[in-house]
Amino acid sequence: MTPPGIPFARLATLTVLAALPPVAIFCVLAASGRLAWGAAILSALLCTAALAWMVRRGLSDVYRVLQFSEVLARDGQADMTGRDMTGLFPEFTEAVTKLQAAWDRDRGRLGARASSAEIVLESLPHPLLLLNRDRQIVRATVGAKKLLGAATAGRDLSSVLRNPQVLDAVDRVLEGGGRALIEFEIQFPANRSLNAQIEALQTPAADGSTAVVALFDVTEIKQVHQMRADFVANASHELRTPLAVLSGCVKTLRGPAKDDPEGREKFLGMMDAHASRMTQLIDDLLSLSRVELNENSPPSDRVHLTRLLSNVVTSLEIPAAEREIEVVIEPGIGVGEVIGDESELNQLFQNLIENSIKYSRRGGLVRIVPQLGSRAAPGPLAPDAPHVEIAVIDQGQGIAPEHIPRLTERFYRVDTARSREMGGTGLGLAIVKHIVGRHRGALTIESVEGEGSTFTVYLPADAGTSP
Ligand code: ADP
Repeated sequence: MTPPGIPFARLATLTVLAALPPVAIFCVLAASGRLAWGAAILSALLCTAALAWMVRRGLSDVYRVLQFSEVLARDGQADMTGRDMTGLFPEFTEAVTKLQAAWDRDRGRLGARASSAEIVLESLPHPLLLLNRDRQIVRATVGAKKLLGAATAGRDLSSVLRNPQVLDAVDRVLEGGGRALIEFEIQFPANRSLNAQIEALQTPAADGSTAVVALFDVTEIKQVHQMRADFVANASHELRTPLAVLSGCVKTLRGPAKDDPEGREKFLGMMDAHASRMTQLIDDLLSLSRVELNENSPPSDRVHLTRLLSNVVTSLEIPAAEREIEVVIEPGIGVGEVIGDESELNQLFQNLIENSIKYSRRGGLVRIVPQLGSRAAPGPLAPDAPHVEIAVIDQGQGIAPEHIPRLTERFYRVDTARSREMGGTGLGLAIVKHIVGRHRGALTIESVEGEGSTFTVYLPADAGTSP
């Protein structure tokens, strides 16, 4: 019987072709009288049958290999090892089996490489999108999904990035190749400033990707630039006012007040006050930049906290007395030394206590309460981290809640005129924030308008407590 897949015509043709020479020999032998015609016909039939059997077995192997390659081409995979080969051409079977094994191995390797490349690509924190020629997303990295929300494969780029400039640039690159750089802003899912680099792939990838969009989040960089620009503008503005007063006074002293001893005294007094204000401002600017420079190297000295607090209070006796304010340090039981920078901690408490004197009403009380951490520490300290808390509590005018989060910004004041009148530069709390940061501590501000404010400094205790 013809095995499935072998056309009978081919089997018959090959059998006839193979049987022709022996049949011819039997005919010649019979015709020359060396073999009886009956025996010759019988031998020819037997020989043809044997050849038909061999051709059929050989062909069935060939057709099995053909079937195998057809299945392989159609489905991408096929199994040869399980097939019933006749063993007529063992080398042939062996070669095909080896070929299949090599193919499987290469496929496995390629598959593993492709899937690891896919995993690596998709888990990249950097926002990256691969697009096909129809502007649909083929692949999006974790970074892109985080930045843009639902950047899933198959969606048109316009459904996740609605910026017309970017879409135009992408269309241009998809049509004409090359690259484009675009700077833009997004409002959803969050307000961010982004740079997009759109580039056509040299050859389209197997998954249909033809262009890559790399996004760079430049929000923080822009904010830093903005802060720097604001800082320079604010500092110049702060210096301009006393300078203008000084130059005005000089002009007046040379002109109208030249021969007026009373006026001269008044203008010299003004010059003195504004020169002191400029000196204070420059001192604070220098302190701020010094603290900022050291912020990444935490201090390692031991500082006796209660002694330091009492020195600060002594140094502020005159301004406190001028405003009839009593400053008391409550005994900090168990609070001994902290790891810190003495001059920075000195400045930190000087700024806080000076503020509570400045912004307290005349005759008020300022309490300084050092104690071992009694409540959960705020971040960046771990809530259960051993710490020392130093609260500076005043009975002043208090601060409205909307101002509290901004108080540590440079030059931020609730009442600029009042701050200037009190000799403030608007940098005191910014310096406090940076010193606390360098000490890996925290600062909290609580206030009730009309009742007073509490500024609490948390410092990690480490070896900062005495038994
Ligand atoms: P300034 O030199 O103006 O005092 P700071 O940075 O020290 O600058 O303080 C910023 C602002 O915070 C002040 O201008 C003031 O409005 C407010 N402030 C600081 N401390 C107190 C306080 N103890 N009570 C009320 N307001 C305060």
